[in-house]
Amino acid sequence: MKRDTIIIGAGVVGLMCAYHLHKAGRKVTIIDEGDITDCTSFGNAGLLSAFDKGCLAYPGVISTTMKQMLKGESPVNIHPKLDPKLFTWLFKFAASANEKRFKRTVMLFEKYGEDTLKLYEKMQKEDNLDFDYHRKGMLSVFTEDATYEKKLKECESKDKKTYKILSKEETKEYLPCGNEKIKGSILFTRNAHFDPKRVMLETKEFLEKEGVEFILNEKIIDIKFSNKKVKSVSSLTNTYEAENFILSTGYQTLLADIRKKSLMMTPAKGYSITFSMPNELKPKTSTLFSDLFIVMTPRRDSVRLTSKLELGSTDTKVVKEQIDSIKSNFEKYTLPFEMKDIKEWTGFRPLTPNDIPLFGRDEEYKNLVYAMGMGWLGMTFAPSIGKIVRKIITKDLENKNSDDVLLFSGFYQ
Ligand SMILES: Cc1cc2nc3c(=O)[nH]c(=O)nc-3n(C[C@H](O)[C@H](O)[C@H](O)COP(=O)(O)OP(=O)(O)OC[C@H]3O[C@@H](n4cnc5c(N)ncnc54)[C@H](O)[C@@H]3O)c2cc1C
Repeated sequence: MKRDTIIIGAGVVGLMCAYHLHKAGRKVTIIDEGDITDCTSFGNAGLLSAFDKGCLAYPGVISTTMKQMLKGESPVNIHPKLDPKLFTWLFKFAASANEKRFKRTVMLFEKYGEDTLKLYEKMQKEDNLDFDYHRKGMLSVFTEDATYEKKLKECESKDKKTYKILSKEETKEYLPCGNEKIKGSILFTRNAHFDPKRVMLETKEFLEKEGVEFILNEKIIDIKFSNKKVKSVSSLTNTYEAENFILSTGYQTLLADIRKKSLMMTPAKGYSITFSMPNELKPKTSTLFSDLFIVMTPRRDSVRLTSKLELGSTDTKVVKEQIDSIKSNFEKYTLPFEMKDIKEWTGFRPLTPNDIPLFGRDEEYKNLVYAMGMGWLGMTFAPSIGKIVRKIITKDLENKNSDDVLLFSGFYQ
C-alpha cells in the first residue's frame, strides 16, 4: 500500500507538520521510534520567546561564556572528543556570532515567532485544544550590574510598548521567590509560554481523532531511493512507501546520514527540573535568569527550571552534577523554599551553529522534505515550519519558489 505523506519523527515539529497537512486535506502517517511520551519536545521550558531574547550566536558570546566559567555559573560544557563535525560546528558558531548576522536572525525570529503565536492561538480556539498558554510576557531578570545596564541601553532603541522596566518592588511582585541579589528586571511583553507536554498530548490526541495514522515504537533504519525519489523507508519489521516523506527526527541524523546529506547541527544536551512549590512564591510569568541561562516557567500544577548546554554528549542519562549545579546557581538568587515532587529530565536540542533551522526539499530526491535543526526554539517555530512544509508539499514548490525557505532555512545561509 502506498501512502500519501509519511512523517518520520513525532516531536513537536513532526506533529505540527502533520497538523497543517491534515488541515490541507492530506492523508498523513506519522512514524516514531518511541510512543510520544518523552522526547525533547516534552521536557523543555515551554517559552515562546522569539522576541527580545536574542540568539545563542551573539557577538561577545565567547567572552561572556569564559566569564561565567570563571564564576562557576556557566551553563555550557563541551565534552572533548575527536569529532571533526563538532569542531566544524564550533568554528561555524564562532564565525556566526557577529553583529550583522545577529540583527538578521533577530528579525527572522520576530517574523516567524509572531506567526507561530497566532497559529497556536488559532489551534486552541478552533480545535478546542488546551495548551496552558499565556501571552503575559517574559521577565528577564539580571544578576549582574553590567549586563543589566547593557540591556537597558539596548532597550532605548526599542518600541516602548514591547518592554517594561520593573523596579525592585515590581520585580518582587512578578518573581516573589527572588532575593535581594537580583539587580533588576525587564518584562518583554510580546513573549508567551505554555506547557509543552500539554501541547504534545493534546495535538496528538486531536490528530488521532481526526484520523491521522500513528505507527509507534518503530525506528526507521533505512531509506530506499529510485528514479530520483525516495521510494520507501523501513524499520526492522516493515517497509513503507509514500508519495512524500518528511524527516523531523530532532537531533538524530541517521536517516539524513544514509541519504549522505550533511546537516550542520549538533545535539546540545539540556536539563529540566519540574516541581511543586508554595503558590505564593510562584513566578507570575515565564522568567529568564539572563546571566545564568536558567528559565523558570510556571505551569498549572508545577514550576519548571531548565538550563545547561552540553556539547559532545549523546548520553541520555540525567547527570546528577548538572542538576545540582542548576539548583545551586538558582538558589543563590532566590529565597529558600522546598521543591516537592521533583522530576528531573534531560533532552537534546538539535542545534545549528547560527540558530537558523534546516528545512526545505532535498535538492536531489524531490519528494523528501527536511524539518530539522530547530535548536533551542523548536516549540517557538514548529507551527510556522509546519505551515511552510504544508505549502511546499501541497503547492509542489521547489525551494527556489518558496520565499520562506530562501529567507529562513539554514540550507541557504
Ligand atoms: C532544556 C531544554 C529547554 C528548551 N526550552 C525551549 C523553550 O523554552 N522554547 C522553545 O521553543 N524550545 C525549547 N527547547 C528546544 C525544543 O525543545 C526543541 O527544539 C524541540 O523540542 C525539537 O523538536 P523536534 O520535533 O525537532 O525533535 P524531538 O522532540 O526530539 O522529536 C524527534 C522525534 O523523532 C523520533 N525519531 C528520531 N529518529 C527516528 C527514527 N530513525 N525513526 C523513528 N523516529 C525517530 C524521536 O523518537 C522523537 O520522538 C528546549 C530544549 C531543551 C533541551
